[in-house]
Amino acid sequence: MLVNNVYELIGQTPLLKLNVPTPNQSQIYAKLEMNNPGGSVKDRLGMALIERGIEIGAIKKQTTIIEPTAGNTGIGLALAAQKYHLPVKLVVPEKFSFEKQTLMRALGAEIINTPSEQGIKGAIATAKELAAGIENSYVPLQFENSANPAVYQRTLGPEILADLHNQRIDAFVAGAGSGGTFVGTAKALEAAYPQISKVVVEPEGSILNGGQPHAHKTEGIGVEFIPPFFDDLTITAIKTISDDDAFHYVKWLAKNEGLFVGSSSGSALAASIQLAANLPAKSTIVTIFPDSSERYLSEGIYD
Ligand code: PMP
Repeated sequence: MLVNNVYELIGQTPLLKLNVPTPNQSQIYAKLEMNNPGGSVKDRLGMALIERGIEIGAIKKQTTIIEPTAGNTGIGLALAAQKYHLPVKLVVPEKFSFEKQTLMRALGAEIINTPSEQGIKGAIATAKELAAGIENSYVPLQFENSANPAVYQRTLGPEILADLHNQRIDAFVAGAGSGGTFVGTAKALEAAYPQISKVVVEPEGSILNGGQPHAHKTEGIGVEFIPPFFDDLTITAIKTISDDDAFHYVKWLAKNEGLFVGSSSGSALAASIQLAANLPAKSTIVTIFPDSSERYLSEGIYD
């Protein structure tokens, strides 16, 4: 396969038929989003945020892009910004992985760390403050920007339908950080299969199931506020998965399927297996594996 630039490699990721046993012989498929050039599902978003910014006139020549991020959106943004020669400043709570921060810097982004205790809300506030002090700057703000769910509705959802040659899908399971991946993809799948179960996954310490916010090890998912994108979608169920269960399946996937996945993928698989027990026999479940364990090795993901 000959490609002309790295951007042509964003999207069109493989959908893997997993061998994982389920209680009722359901089949789980996982979209391998670590196969994007920046290594995560958020490459799709990085390009979409830059292109939307240009389209609405918010990004012009040399506009500084500023964004609060747990890391993967930052990598996607830094990659997309290179195409347009735009400077990038990423505001990252310091708890997020060393590898992701190193990769953002390697792509040319500047990193501003905020205290972990202030969470993503602290990073959002700092990004807005920074932007106020920099002329010709723009904060795409993935948590509110409609380009976020839109890109998944336009790309990831239709890819899954095509990957399965329009075989019926009974359930879609995915984690939520900003909620863009879940909401956009779910909408595309629901348009094809109106009866589909749409199951969102969060770690313990996230608030969707009414829990109190607290620190968790599962990285990239979990919310401190209800994502506004959820207003547009009826969620069938919310699965809250412990860090232990998420990391159990991270290790299981390496040992049994030869797959290196991050903890949000482990969490998505744990939730898919739990869900299978409540579905009719031989259901088809599709989930997303957002990134690779290789960006969490320093955190001891396999310890
Ligand atoms: N998993 C990982 C590893 C991520 O980095 C993210 C994005 N923060 C997600 C899942 C969730 O994606 P979204 O923001 O679209 O909900």
